[in-house]
Amino acid sequence: MTARIAVLGAGGFIGSHLAPALAERFGCEVDAVDVTFEKLVSKDPRIHRRCARVEDAGVVEEVTRRASLVISLTALCNPSLYSTFPLEVIDASFTHLLPLVKLCTERRVRLIHFSTAEVYGRRAMNAAGEPAAEMTEDDSCSLFGPVHRERWTYACAKQLMERVIWAQGKHHGLEFSIVRPFNTIGPRMDYLPGVDGDGIPRVLACFIDQLLRGEPLSLVGGGRQRRAFMDVADMVEAVCRMVERRGPCRGQIVNLGNPANEVSIADLARLLAREFSALAPLARAARFEHVTADEFYGEGYDDTEQRVPDIGKARSLLGWEPRVSLSEMLPAILGDYLERYAGRVASRTSRFEREPERVA
Ligand code: NAD
Ligand code: UDP
Repeated sequence: MTARIAVLGAGGFIGSHLAPALAERFGCEVDAVDVTFEKLVSKDPRIHRRCARVEDAGVVEEVTRRASLVISLTALCNPSLYSTFPLEVIDASFTHLLPLVKLCTERRVRLIHFSTAEVYGRRAMNAAGEPAAEMTEDDSCSLFGPVHRERWTYACAKQLMERVIWAQGKHHGLEFSIVRPFNTIGPRMDYLPGVDGDGIPRVLACFIDQLLRGEPLSLVGGGRQRRAFMDVADMVEAVCRMVERRGPCRGQIVNLGNPANEVSIADLARLLAREFSALAPLARAARFEHVTADEFYGEGYDDTEQRVPDIGKARSLLGWEPRVSLSEMLPAILGDYLERYAGRVASRTSRFEREPERVA
């Protein structure tokens, strides 16, 4: 089994769940690289933290000298950034990772790279460009908006990196697997604006922030867009199986998501609000408001109407099935945010008010 695994982006949401799971499951040493480790709370002595940027001199050189497997998760992956910091988004998902891919190829280091479901674009299409129900790894076309819709900077950078990795594999022997995650959520995802970060996080943290502050939940475009949400525990299990099933996964691009958890964003808002009121019965009742994408994100944003994975390939390669339903995952996720943030949000805003008649 792999003796040493490097996890780049180990201090992020998925990385902070994955790194301890790898150390535990494989009994291996884990080199964890990130610029922050606040979310990586594990005390496992096999996890070695290196606080650095992947593009810093010597970092990927050292990582590929020590580890036999690199799992790369670094990216700027909040949609609000794609049209506000597009050059940094492109660098993070493409330019800064080119040396890593080259060194993995030269040194015969296995690479599991995190791409994104965003590479499919606005909606699912089959090979002929006709509408389809699900997004399929080796068949679907991509549908990106025009260049002035800067939303697609991230998708294009991720897709070009997939093409570089594919070419290094096909023509120069790189042993790789590419993961395309579909809306994976769980404890420790993102941040709350004004508390431990700035700007607009992904939808889960946006809605929880609004619930905690007693503000209306913002439904962009009315919330008709549809997403399939997967629990991070199902993601971790799939990636561990990918590590184990080295031969079958070589040269494969694999969707990881949970099609059974497909909902509209408006329904997600309602489900979160219901769970929130069960956990925090004294908080102000949830309200909802419709906002336009331009109002919420500014110009250059664009949206994916519907994003549902075909996970047939993951099932057959990994013998894996996502297990956690939305109703099972939401209480634990909300519990985590309440535990970490309720005090901090309440002390910073007078809008997290109790309903007097229910306090009595
Ligand atoms: P995240 O933002 O929580 O984690 C990314 C981590 O990378 C952060 O801790 C960040 O500090 C670190 N990082 C970024 N640039 C870096 C650099 N130059 N050097 C060192 N560290 C750097 O995001 P996440 O949700 O955990 O996503 C992990 C990966 O999965 C990303 O590549 C993302 O594109 C992909 N992905 C995630 C989802 C999802 O639903 N969570 C969906 C699609 C794709
Ligand atoms: N969204 C929303 N309200 C918010 C934040 C996001 O309606 O407060 C919508 C957003 O427009 C998108 C969906 O929720 O259609 C999912 O957004 P997220 O940022 O999580 O990432 P995406 O799935 O688009 O990559």
